[in-house]
Amino acid sequence: MVAVHSTARGPALGGCRMWTYDDARAAVRDVLRLSRAMTFKAAVAGLPLGGGKGVIMLRPDEPPLSPERREAVLQDFGDTVEALGGDYLTAEDVGTGEPDMEVIAGRTSHVTGLATGSGDPSPWTAIGCEVAVRATLERVFGTGDPSGRRIAVIGLGSVGGRLAELLHEGGAELVVADVDQSKRELAERLGATWTDPLSAMTAEVDLVAPCALGGVLNDETVPALRCKAIAGAANNQLADDSLEAQIAERGILWAPDFVCNAGGIINICVELEPSGYDPARAETNVRVVGDSLRTIFDSAAATGTTPLTAALALGQERLRG
Ligand code: NAD
Repeated sequence: MVAVHSTARGPALGGCRMWTYDDARAAVRDVLRLSRAMTFKAAVAGLPLGGGKGVIMLRPDEPPLSPERREAVLQDFGDTVEALGGDYLTAEDVGTGEPDMEVIAGRTSHVTGLATGSGDPSPWTAIGCEVAVRATLERVFGTGDPSGRRIAVIGLGSVGGRLAELLHEGGAELVVADVDQSKRELAERLGATWTDPLSAMTAEVDLVAPCALGGVLNDETVPALRCKAIAGAANNQLADDSLEAQIAERGILWAPDFVCNAGGIINICVELEPSGYDPARAETNVRVVGDSLRTIFDSAAATGTTPLTAALALGQERLRG
């Protein structure tokens, strides 16, 4: 399934998620929710893109797809994308990768993030996240320099692992966690303290960077937080939007996830420019994440609202053009 939430600012871009759902209703709900989030992510980042999303639904009772069946499913998805005539541009997401995009590209030209284009978005998401961490530290401590700051990174995957490296290079003292024990190696290389995900989330640190799954800010973790700020890549960090007020009441600054993790989509957008993909331009553009956050923090302070409310208002304003 493909959801096109908005084309007000340009073609609807959003990754193709291959995931297990209990039923089609749950998958439709997810694709609609995610497509709306993409509209706001692109609008707040100031990109000439709308919001869309693709979902290939796997069934819980089904054995893993054989390579032949996976290829056939991806080709069907490619036909669906092609039928939308460019209103929707696909990309990789949870459960899909570059080789899958190559298969989809056999059926439609409306595919981004191929090795011949902007490639894997994760390193760019990590750069954008590091810029977001600096902008958030700057707001709380008056300086964005991570040197000597204690920072917890949860999830050392493609984005979190690179973010941890960048923060280590910047002189931060790291506390890290991942459910995958093989990530201990990276922790050791960075001289980081290894702990479990809940302890990292509630550690006494300057900033927590959630870079694994969504829903990590919930009724259990929010009252136990001991950090001053939160800025990370994980999508949908708030289990419920109302938790943001509780976080703010506790004097903790939360940088909206969809602003922090826009680096990947900003990088993809460079490949859609008439002059084609250029990594130097991508890096310049990704660094704009810091300016977006500063605008949002300023607006929240000026209007007495939270960063999420200010970010959504900025998105609405940009959608109106
Ligand atoms: P990834 O799969 O490469 O890494 C996720 C890491 O989190 C893995 O190492 C995994 O073992 C770990 N993990 C899973 N469950 C965990 C848990 N409960 N506690 C601690 N660690 C756990 O994914 P990624 O590409 O690095 O993406 C990370 C997050 O950032 C996701 O929420 C993703 O939606 C979001 N995001 C990624 C991009 C991108 O460009 N890759 C862009 C925007 C948003």
